[in-house]
Amino acid sequence: MRATGRLHMGHYHGVLKNWVRLQHEYECFFFVADWHGLTTEYENPQKIEQHVWDLVIDWLAAGVNPGSATLFIQSQVPEHAELHLLLSMMTPLSWLERVPTYKDQQEKLREKDLSTYGFLGYPLLQSADILAYRAGQVPVGADQVAHVELTREVARRFNHLYGREPGFEEAVEAAIKKMGKKQAKIYTNHRRQYQEKGDESALETARALVDNQQNITLGDKERLYGDLEGGGKVILPEPQALLTKASKMPGLDGQKMSKSYGNFIGMREEAGEIESKIRRMPTDPARVRRTDPGNPQNCPVWQFHMVYSDDTTRQWVQDGCTSAGIGCLDCKKPIIEAVQEEVEPIRKRAEEHLRNPDLVRTIVAEGSEEAREAARATLEEVRGAMGLNY
Ligand code: SF4
Repeated sequence: MRATGRLHMGHYHGVLKNWVRLQHEYECFFFVADWHGLTTEYENPQKIEQHVWDLVIDWLAAGVNPGSATLFIQSQVPEHAELHLLLSMMTPLSWLERVPTYKDQQEKLREKDLSTYGFLGYPLLQSADILAYRAGQVPVGADQVAHVELTREVARRFNHLYGREPGFEEAVEAAIKKMGKKQAKIYTNHRRQYQEKGDESALETARALVDNQQNITLGDKERLYGDLEGGGKVILPEPQALLTKASKMPGLDGQKMSKSYGNFIGMREEAGEIESKIRRMPTDPARVRRTDPGNPQNCPVWQFHMVYSDDTTRQWVQDGCTSAGIGCLDCKKPIIEAVQEEVEPIRKRAEEHLRNPDLVRTIVAEGSEEAREAARATLEEVRGAMGLNY
């Protein structure tokens, strides 16, 4: 998670509740991406430190448990940077330029100059973050799937270039020759198309071509499949995106909850603040007077009922709203209570950790050391495969 400051209940519902569940199902590594924070905040790096600690405290408050998962800070594991550098040597520029968020973010954050080397390369740094742990799955939102896809391509290319056993290339060349000049040419053209441009249909065609060969042995075919996919030994396994169903917490105005829209409820908010924010929430504009009936579909408060209320309460809202039987403040009351009840224990845990910064630092130091050990082992293999273990 990027270090961008304190979290709100949108993060809690959308991400952290999932993490808390995942930490019991998998071996999990959760880290504060402080270097990623720098890609857009390079002019104000002094902000990042506070953001880092805020993030860790909010995770702990949400129930992320250092006994079940490894919590650490990216910059305390320099292997991420080393792997990023090594991967950058073999990653085509065009792969980074075509990542959808690259242009999107530059457009969105137009007030910042993001035509930097670091900003272009940050999806590759993400790839290094993932591959350093040889992660099987990466819990991401739909907007990050393209980044996991890039990571898969990078891993494939790495394995292709450096994962070869001695004699593999020669065996592949011999198998291609056996296919005959014309077929061999089609094979190599499609292989290039796939490996350089990521064209999946070229991969399919090349595979089908290998399938249909009569003159080559089964062993040859297996070698050629391996050749297409990266071949030889897998040093960096390809991760999968783990798209989990997250409950969505809408913002106070019905848009996505976001700090930049000012429509959020913080994870450490006091009961009084929560009450006043929800009381001020806009409702169906048709309900000008108490006696005007409304339609919950046109009201952001209804979206909160979808998250927090049971069927009986929802029916009470439907009936009361459309008949003007209840007022909007009556309707908001169960929401105020439910949000307060959810936030209160989180806020209390955050306060406990704020009172004990040494404990938080120890958790992160231990986590970073654990993470480093795992990343070190990967880097040793990576260096070895590239001939850099002198
Ligand atoms: Fe919205 Fe409830 Fe008011 Fe209807 S009664 S407009 S659902 S707040």
